[in-house]
Amino acid sequence: MILILGGTGEARELAARVPAVSSLAGRVSTPALPVGEVRIGGFGGVDGLAQWLRDNGITAVVDATHPFARQITANAFEACARVGVPFLVLRRPGFDPQPGWLWVDDVAGAARAIPGSRVFLTTGRQDLAEFAGCPQWFLARMVEPPEPPMPQRIEVLLSRGPFTVDGELALMREHRIDVLVTKDSGGRMTSAKLEAARRLGIPVVIVRRPPLPPAETVADVDAAVRWLGTAGA
Ligand code: NAP
Repeated sequence: MILILGGTGEARELAARVPAVSSLAGRVSTPALPVGEVRIGGFGGVDGLAQWLRDNGITAVVDATHPFARQITANAFEACARVGVPFLVLRRPGFDPQPGWLWVDDVAGAARAIPGSRVFLTTGRQDLAEFAGCPQWFLARMVEPPEPPMPQRIEVLLSRGPFTVDGELALMREHRIDVLVTKDSGGRMTSAKLEAARRLGIPVVIVRRPPLPPAETVADVDAAVRWLGTAGA
């Protein structure tokens, strides 16, 4: 049996093409579910995951988690090496970089480098605490309601997308946004805000992806399906 570590559109696409069990972290109360078997919740670190791979007769693991889900990818790399199960990372490419973007290494760096006062923030609920001490006003878009700490001056917009350039233009104009702070998540579904920012001449602060473990990596679902064929999973 193949294990797909999920939480992304690519993971759902892959689950629709190969028989597999998909795993979700359980962060979202009403997740978009992949077809096929699904398990939800953490494994209990590297030890728990290694045990789970053995107990469930897993023959290959595809990590199709979000590019910023660093911990689960590191854990899966180590657990697969320990148990001797083939491991592949499926990561969509990052956004096409535009001149003038301000690149930072992490979310804390973004919080220190905001060149504006009315911020459109799309780094996600889990990173909101990093902006708690910021004096700016924030329009923060996320899927689930956040918990404190968070910035004092904030409007939370609960939305899962997909988003259009026209919609993002209207949103940024309506809220008189003067800077966009986001992550290099990649993908068409979330790139509309970047195009809208470009058209409005709004500066963009963008967080670099965390490094990947030295695992075999592919950029699209077709390549992951081919790899599963050759991995004999
Ligand atoms: P993370 O920091 O890498 O992982 C933290 C812990 O959550 C892991 O150690 C693991 O717990 C558990 N976990 C994460 N992904 C899991 C999965 N697919 N199945 C089972 N357990 C999982 O992850 P995160 O950034 O919190 O992201 C959680 C999930 O949300 C991921 O599946 C990711 O694809 C999705 N997501 C993340 C972002 C983002 O910006 N980070 C955005 C969109 C979607 P144990 O150690 O107990 O196994």
